[in-house]
Amino acid sequence: MVSGFSGAGKGTIMKALLKKYGNYCLSVSCTTRQPRPGEKDGREYFFKTQDEFDRMVENGELLEHAGYVGHSYGTPRAYVEQKIAEGKDVILEIEVQGAKIIREKMPEAILLFVSTPSAEVLKKRLAGRGTESEDTIRERLGQTLRESEEISHYDCLIINDDLDRAVEEVHQAIQTFKHTPKRERAFIEELQQELRAVNGR
Ligand code: 5GP
Repeated sequence: MVSGFSGAGKGTIMKALLKKYGNYCLSVSCTTRQPRPGEKDGREYFFKTQDEFDRMVENGELLEHAGYVGHSYGTPRAYVEQKIAEGKDVILEIEVQGAKIIREKMPEAILLFVSTPSAEVLKKRLAGRGTESEDTIRERLGQTLRESEEISHYDCLIINDDLDRAVEEVHQAIQTFKHTPKRERAFIEELQQELRAVNGR
């Protein structure tokens, strides 16, 4: 899971990561917010009405869902489960409340948090994006302090001041954290069985 402040560059890092490395796939979320210029239904998001979104929640079609600055966001369950079963590294780009839910449901999930080097840079990037109104920018900046309080629950903090380096750090972090012993229980058990066998026990 990748979380981070709005404007920190998560989306750009994810696009570059997927282009560079083959085993990743990005989950496409559902949202009730309006598409930004250039966004396409089914590519950046599945754009839903609130009724459609609520129905998906009722039918258990979302792995997690959360509210963010007045809109609903959620992860479609079927795609994620299918890709995990295919052995893919599935990336969810989600905000901190959704990440908390996934962390509880899937304790083996790896959590990465993307930040700009400073609050000043964040403010400039968010404004420079030119896709949101001043009110929306203010609302999004207003979330950042609360979001920053969650960083300590993440496995790795990625400071995005250079895109290529940030992509490499995300890739390395995922590949490293995949092999922490708590995520390798099946391998360890199998190894122990083999060790018992070679030791004649
Ligand atoms: P944006 O409107 O900028 O595309 O996304 C706003 C926030 O919602 C971002 O922090 C983004 O990571 C998060 N988000 C996107 N999809 C999901 C989702 O499926 N679930 C949750 N909980 N957050 C999401």
